[in-house]
Amino acid sequence: MGSLAFTEKPHAVCVPYPAQGHINPMLKLAKILHYKGFHITFVNTEYNHKRLLKSRGPDSLNALPSFQFETIPDGLPDQNLLLKLNDTSSSHVPPVTCIVSDGVMSFTLDAAAELGIPDVLFWTTSACGFMGYAQYRHLIEKGLTPLKDESYLTNGHLDTIIDWIPGMKGIRLRDLPSFIATTDRDDIMLNFAMVEAEKAQRASAVILNTFDALEHEVLEGLSTMFPSICSIGPLQLLVNQIPDNNYKLIGSNLWKEEERCIEWLDKRQPNSVVYVNFGSVTIMTSNQLIEFAWGLANSKQAFLWIIRHDLVRGDSAVLPPEFLEETKERGLLANWCSQEEVLSHPSIGGFLTHSGWNSTLESVCGGVPMISWPFFAEQQTNCRYTCIEWGIGMEMESDAKRGKIESLVRELMVGEKGQKLKKKAIEWKKLAEETISPTGSSFVNLDKIINQVLLASA
Ligand code: UDP
Repeated sequence: MGSLAFTEKPHAVCVPYPAQGHINPMLKLAKILHYKGFHITFVNTEYNHKRLLKSRGPDSLNALPSFQFETIPDGLPDQNLLLKLNDTSSSHVPPVTCIVSDGVMSFTLDAAAELGIPDVLFWTTSACGFMGYAQYRHLIEKGLTPLKDESYLTNGHLDTIIDWIPGMKGIRLRDLPSFIATTDRDDIMLNFAMVEAEKAQRASAVILNTFDALEHEVLEGLSTMFPSICSIGPLQLLVNQIPDNNYKLIGSNLWKEEERCIEWLDKRQPNSVVYVNFGSVTIMTSNQLIEFAWGLANSKQAFLWIIRHDLVRGDSAVLPPEFLEETKERGLLANWCSQEEVLSHPSIGGFLTHSGWNSTLESVCGGVPMISWPFFAEQQTNCRYTCIEWGIGMEMESDAKRGKIESLVRELMVGEKGQKLKKKAIEWKKLAEETISPTGSSFVNLDKIINQVLLASA
């Protein structure tokens, strides 16, 4: 396909949801499609486009021919973009032949139907997380959510075992995506997630950045509800197979990566550093920040701790000078890093994470065991699977204090349990690598999606 003339190229429009954890996997998929011969239009919101220009520089957006970026306004979705792209008199790109859009950008389904082209929905969650959202209506019908009143948050109701979800065993209500913990039937997130998950029925196919060995049972369960669903991950490993270095020039980090993180890790011993990062959305109180600081200091372990400027609610993060003094030899604080590089660095021995799906999968790819401190959405479900089903993590309760943080970090880095988790994490890493080999399930599934769905109308 690489030798197709420019005008004959199939043209995929990739529409991520405008948040870091959604743009990253979509960009990887876009690069893979481009490498396989597609012309790509990658659609960012105006605000995120500006942020990318700032964090990566303009050259990063022009690194590949036939890979273009377009913007849509931050408010309502722009219905005119596809018309503009298809207007051959004003644009020099091949006509749009398919759409790949984020699972929660389902408005693209109508546009695709109008143009008569396939629309593949990419849910950037785990399969278990997606299954959780896809069960929201049943949970409402069975009266499990919304909660009758606030007392249901603490009266044991959330410990109800849900035994009827296909492919999920032993899951508790509290392990399902967190928007069920509301007392309001009109809760925006509860309804949004429910409706978007249901709309996946209308997609030409639904794809997930996970792999069969990791989530086999849930994927089987999902395929009874969404016949066209398949796993195509970890995309990180697939994209790393592309030999052309120009692909690396296009990045998606909205914050500027601090290179000194890797330089610092280069100087540390193998498996000696705990990496602490709560992703792009999590916020905490300044008290919580201080508990983490002293938990890390008292664990006596080396750490790389990423503290986003806006991590602390309503305030900038202020750490006690005594903490900074005590940990200056063995701790590095930074605002943002290249997390995939960090998690595949040999010095990293463990990851204290909020269990966002990208972070979890990147940790699996690095063979790094985790302490899971879920914040919201399907992070609760990822935490459950990380700790119970996959055996690569330990859960930390939401109001964890310094003593607990200290003991979990120590257990992860130098304890017996930590060793067991590490061993298991390496096993999953190997299975992840197998899945993207030419006979592996994700490799085969992706080829099928390209040839049987995305190219169906080209
Ligand atoms: N990330 C990064 N550097 C950081 C923090 C995060 O590169 O310092 C990336 C990380 O690799 C992942 C994404 O941002 O791909 C975060 O996605 P995730 O699903 O883990 O969490 P979210 O931010 O959506 O809560």
